[in-house]
Amino acid sequence: MIQNIDLMIVGGGPAGLMAALAAAEAAPEDARILLCERDEALGGQLVKQTHKFFGSEKQHAGERGFFIGRDLAEAVRDEKKIQVLTDATVLGLYEDGVVTVLHDDKHLKYRPQKLIVATGASEKFLAFPGNDLPGIYGAGAVQTLMNVSGVKPAERVVMVGAGNIGLIVSYQLLQAGVDVACVVEAAPQIGGYLVHASKLARSGVPIRTGWTVKEAFGEETLEGVVLVQLDESFQQIPGTEETVACDALCLAVGLSPLADLLYQADCAMTYVRELSGAVPVVDENLMTSVEGIYVCGDVSGIEEASAAMVEGRLAGCAAAKALGWNAEAAQAEIENAQVELSELRSGPTGARIRAGLAKMKGKRGAGAC
Ligand SMILES: Cc1cc2nc3c(=O)[nH]c(=O)nc-3n(C[C@H](O)[C@H](O)[C@H](O)COP(=O)(O)OP(=O)(O)OC[C@H]3O[C@@H](n4cnc5c(N)ncnc54)[C@H](O)[C@@H]3O)c2cc1C
Repeated sequence: MIQNIDLMIVGGGPAGLMAALAAAEAAPEDARILLCERDEALGGQLVKQTHKFFGSEKQHAGERGFFIGRDLAEAVRDEKKIQVLTDATVLGLYEDGVVTVLHDDKHLKYRPQKLIVATGASEKFLAFPGNDLPGIYGAGAVQTLMNVSGVKPAERVVMVGAGNIGLIVSYQLLQAGVDVACVVEAAPQIGGYLVHASKLARSGVPIRTGWTVKEAFGEETLEGVVLVQLDESFQQIPGTEETVACDALCLAVGLSPLADLLYQADCAMTYVRELSGAVPVVDENLMTSVEGIYVCGDVSGIEEASAAMVEGRLAGCAAAKALGWNAEAAQAEIENAQVELSELRSGPTGARIRAGLAKMKGKRGAGAC
């Protein structure tokens, strides 16, 4: 049986949770809003972020990520107009507007009038000999093991990537009693905030810029890696190889928008390096090229939780307005959110995102891939 609903939100991270709350605020009492999250808990990436967040005070800067996620999840659970399904993976978007969800070993079918896709991102990987050995992880997986499941992932780790994720996860590994042998970074400089790099330096962890992993080795599981220095063209310099013993290698080499559902729905997509991959082409209300399908958060370009939350508000209000729910108030909130996003993206730290968004906007109506 197909259930007709007003609004479906896919993904219960900060973007999806804020989208649901914003839409519910404008919605009438009998609105049918459904949020589906494939994990057993709501919160997305926030459930494993034990550090205090940077960013703007309006978006909870200074609070620990998992407290922000917990508060948003509680607000959504308390909102009677939102039905929440966890352990619910959205599998398919079909041409007739039907969305299928795998939940409790059953395929549920819905036909929402509007859909907000807030599926976040997946971790990038690196190609090198031995990269399939047990003990080689994405940084996010290691964070989940430590901070959600309470499992110490290894005794001695080499971290690849000195962006914020690599630096933060390295520090969290130290807090969990793991020896971090070094952080290697292919670029000539550290990409993450210096405050995180300084904490590692004070703890005696070397950060080796201009280095990468050449290969990994081990009989049955990882026993060590060979590192190699890079020249200014990122070519390996023969003779600089060094072997480091470790039982885990952690890759923090970036995230890609998790956009499979948008491809299924035939949304126009375009590759924008500054937004970290193929992103949907959207209008100023975050609606994709397919009428009634909106996006928010990392799936629309990798940024931060602060931007994901504001984008969530924007997409939620835009969908509410399109559904005819309290249109005037929804429009006012859309405009507030647009201003907040510009503020978040102003200054030197927002330059990359501004450049990426400008490229994406250039593709509107220009036949993106
Ligand atoms: C180590 C680390 C440190 C960070 N530190 C900061 C910081 O200090 N400040 C800051 O602002 N940001 C920080 N971030 C970034 C921030 O966590 C992300 O930008 C933010 O979580 C993105 O929110 P989102 O809702 O778009 O995606 P996510 O949080 O990834 O949520 C997406 C959700 O969608 C679900 N989902 C995916 N596909 C489906 C499907 N088919 N069906 C159902 N559900 C699905 C996923 O399970 C997930 O719960 C950090 C990230 C990391 C990894």
